[in-house]
Formats: sequence, C-alpha cells, structure tokens
Amino acid sequence: MLKNILSIFLQENCPLCERATSEEICNYCQKQLKSCQLKNPKQFWQGDLPLFVWGEYDGKLKQAIAAFKYDKNPKIGELLGIWLAETWQNYSVIHPKIVPLIIPIPIHKNKKKIRGFNQSEIIARGFCQVTNYPLNTKSLMRIRQTKAMFSLTPEEKEKNIKGAFKLEKPLQNHSSSRPIILIDDIYTTGTTVKEAARILGQKGIKVLGVLAISTPRH
Ligand SMILES: [Zn+2]
Repeated sequence: MLKNILSIFLQENCPLCERATSEEICNYCQKQLKSCQLKNPKQFWQGDLPLFVWGEYDGKLKQAIAAFKYDKNPKIGELLGIWLAETWQNYSVIHPKIVPLIIPIPIHKNKKKIRGFNQSEIIARGFCQVTNYPLNTKSLMRIRQTKAMFSLTPEEKEKNIKGAFKLEKPLQNHSSSRPIILIDDIYTTGTTVKEAARILGQKGIKVLGVLAISTPRH
C-alpha cells in the first residue's frame, strides 16, 4: 500500500507526451526517439572534418530537442548525450586507446542566461559520463551574438558566423597529440563547427571530428 502511494508521488509527467512516468522520458517516447536513429551514424565520418550523428532531425527527435532547449529540460539533453556515447562506442569509430578532448560548441553568454544552459555542454556532459573523455568548457567562447541560421543563404551564414568564436584560455595540459572532438546539438550545413575548427586551427589545434545529436535528412 505504502509502496503504491509512494510510486504515485515519484511519478512525473513525461515532458514529451504528459504520460505519467518514473523515467526522464516515458518508455513510449523513448521507443519513438530511438526510431529516429540513423541506420549508419558513421556515414559522414570522412573528409577534413568528419561527422558522427546519432539521429535524423525530424519527428520525435525534433520535438525532444525543442523541449530540451526551449522548455528548460536539460535532462533530455543529458539522455541524448548518453545515447550518442553508447552509439559512438558501438561503432568503434576511433581506436579505443585514443582519448580525445571534448569541446562543446559554445553559445553567447546572453543566450545562455535566457536558456539557463548551453545545450551542447549538457549533451557533452552526458556523453563524457559514458566515455570518460575529458571535457573542456572554458577555453572556446562565443564572443559575438549571431542571427538564427535557418533563414540565411550559405554566404550569409558564413558571414554571420565569422569571428563569432575566440579561444579565451589555452587548453590546459593539452598536448598536441590529444585530438579534439567538437559536440553540437544539430548539424545542418556545418558552417558553425567549421568556424570553430578554424579558430582552433589558428592556434595549431587540430579537430579530429564533430559529433552531433541530429541532422536533417541529407
Ligand atoms: Zn512520453
């Protein structure tokens, strides 16, 4: 009896469908989210800036990312980061002896104040919980506010993001043999991550690749 009463109190509503659940996201929504997973998350792991993506930016995953970022639900982002890590490990993308340094794509401090957190940092924290990779959130900074990217042409996007990042502090104890991996929530044209990689490259820091939770269908 007492157990039943307690379980009622411990249940909260799923942020995606309002069903009562004792998990961060209910089982029904977890299943729907997992159906957004890409068949081959490694398919873009090639070229100058290889990309590893967990799922397609559509349907339930799009809804979950919106609930995470705009309804202040960091737990959703953490869970997505954990799933990204599990998939990353399953696919053995890099040699298990390589331990990269994880840098989440920063947002401007004014945006962070409004949102309460940087979404990429939350994802990266979930990711690093599983992988035990070191995380650096203090060196790469967003020094300029940028316009929303979706309505811009490719040329405007490039102009918009140019000079938006700065390496504020040197990477502590960073040896050039340790590769860097950038983490972002959504990968669209890659303009943002390319600019971040360019800024790091100016200091001789090589980015091994980019990890993202989602990408629109290519
Ligand atoms: Zn649900």
